[in-house]
Amino acid sequence: MVLTSLWNIGFPAVCSGCRRPLPQSEGSAFCAACLAEVAYICSPLCVRCGAELSRDGGGGDRWCGSCLKNHPAFDFARSLVWYREPASSLLLKLKFHADTRTVGGLLQLIRAAPGRIEGGPYDLIVPVPLHPSRLRSRGLNQALILAGLLFGDWRGKIEPAVLIRVENSVPQTRLSGASRRTNLKKAFAVNARFDVVNRSICIVDDVYTTGTTVSECAKTLKRGGARRIDVWTFARA
Ligand SMILES: [Zn+2]
Ligand SMILES: [Zn+2]
Repeated sequence: MVLTSLWNIGFPAVCSGCRRPLPQSEGSAFCAACLAEVAYICSPLCVRCGAELSRDGGGGDRWCGSCLKNHPAFDFARSLVWYREPASSLLLKLKFHADTRTVGGLLQLIRAAPGRIEGGPYDLIVPVPLHPSRLRSRGLNQALILAGLLFGDWRGKIEPAVLIRVENSVPQTRLSGASRRTNLKKAFAVNARFDVVNRSICIVDDVYTTGTTVSECAKTLKRGGARRIDVWTFARA
């Protein structure tokens, strides 16, 4: 299993951010300058979708305007870091170059995050699937790797085959707004091998951008009878 072999990877010899040489004794995947650049997501946040809110509104977590207007299909979404350097480069290398040397750095950022993983316990942890043809061309599903890193203690609950990608949609990054939603309309189905009825499920993805992808996953699982859907992504754009 790919995941198992990833856990004991040591730290790289160069900084995972700026690629400058790194003394192995540091016990870090990043130099001090790159580590200082990491932007963690902090309260006040929308209690539902995890969007960052203005500190003027009283400081506490509360509903954002968008969630008040249209309740999202998921019950709760949170992310750990903003999609900026050095986190963004790590994700790009993992996603498009199947570069598993990024795992040490990703795990370091996850462990240092001030916002701990809340929610759960979950019956199932479901990484957003890639279409089989894209999985073949990329070599790995970054959402599955991140599910293992985020939920290391609950690895037995990770089930990458619960959702099936039923259409090879155009990459979401090439589309915007309405066309993203149409593109994803029929993109997911629940694998008949799994019983999701009344289950509490956590969906995992690499980046939360508009929330369209995870919302479609959540709708599909809720149509299948799931009771609660939380979403965790490593980063938020
Ligand atoms: Zn650096
Ligand atoms: Zn919200």
